[in-house]
Amino acid sequence: MSKVHNFSAGPCILPPEVLKGAADAVGQFNDLNLSLIEVSHRGKDFIAVAEKAVGLVKELLEVPEGYSVMYLQGGASLQFLMTPYNFLKEGGTAAYTNTGTWAKKAIKEAKLFGNIEVVASSEDRNHTYIPKGYTIPENADYFHITSNNTIYGTQVMEFPETSVPIICDMSSDIFSKKIDVSKFDVIYAGAQKNMGTAGATLAIVKDSFMESSGRAIPSMLNYKIHASKESMFNTPPVFAIYVSMLMLQWMKDIGGVEKIAEMNKAKAELMYGEIDRNSMFKAVVDVEDRSEMNATFVLNDDSKQDEFNAMWTAANISGIKGHRDVGGYRASMYNALPIESVQVLVDVMKEFESKNA
Ligand SMILES: *Cc1c(COP(=O)(O)O)cnc(C)c1O
Repeated sequence: MSKVHNFSAGPCILPPEVLKGAADAVGQFNDLNLSLIEVSHRGKDFIAVAEKAVGLVKELLEVPEGYSVMYLQGGASLQFLMTPYNFLKEGGTAAYTNTGTWAKKAIKEAKLFGNIEVVASSEDRNHTYIPKGYTIPENADYFHITSNNTIYGTQVMEFPETSVPIICDMSSDIFSKKIDVSKFDVIYAGAQKNMGTAGATLAIVKDSFMESSGRAIPSMLNYKIHASKESMFNTPPVFAIYVSMLMLQWMKDIGGVEKIAEMNKAKAELMYGEIDRNSMFKAVVDVEDRSEMNATFVLNDDSKQDEFNAMWTAANISGIKGHRDVGGYRASMYNALPIESVQVLVDVMKEFESKNA
């Protein structure tokens, strides 16, 4: 089978080494003559995996003292309600940015818990930019922001300065570049975009912020309980944590987050350079807010759709159809996507232009 260039938005591409490591461990874990998924999560072999994964998260992101790193379940979508449950006081207010589908889902869940003030929105231009220069009320229990809007292809380049605790959904750009964890009280991310497979969700929570809502919180939804049990309050998603550990090790081996950021920048420059140069296409997002992870673009002439679709399909490109809310195309260039795949797409776009010139 020839190589597929996988631009899927999520779940998405993983490095071949990670896929092989995962497959091997399902067959035979360490020298136990047992599969990874048929041994106790409390045995020393799996405990070592979980500790290694958490250790790699701390190392790669330089997580400071005073934060707990947890692997939870329920996806980023469960974090939409766990965050207000744990951090929004009865009768309190939380500030949110509305930068698209995922942000809106977070707002919808939070509204079940208290007053939600949407302090900035990009809805007026179908979320093709990141709002800036807004005010976060000082009395808010927290401020929620989505760092990368997977569907629209916008990315926050600079987080607002505020004394209000910041909660950030980093599902689609975590580990893609350096971040200063100390600026955030909570960071969460579903693992299936940049750091593994679906089934595990990463949460990094400032210890002093835990249980700040003062509510009675059911155990499975309580960060403090998960943190105190080192993500083993109940049976953790052992396979997903193992894959994440392999992915984190892969990131470390290729040079860590700084190197990954360089690679992502090069891929994004190649991709957007071609979208801007090519007379057949145009980008949909404001230049300064363009995501390095998800590049969205449209055809100038929609009647050429079938022809372009046939060309990239023939080049073994997969997953560049845009989200139904945006249309057009979306090339997702997560950490594991090699620049060679971007070059293949760019070459197809060039050929498409020359055929139509
Ligand atoms: C994919 C995605 C989600 C949803 O994640 P699930 O793990 O499917 O719940 C939330 N936020 C962002 C920014 C995403 O890209």
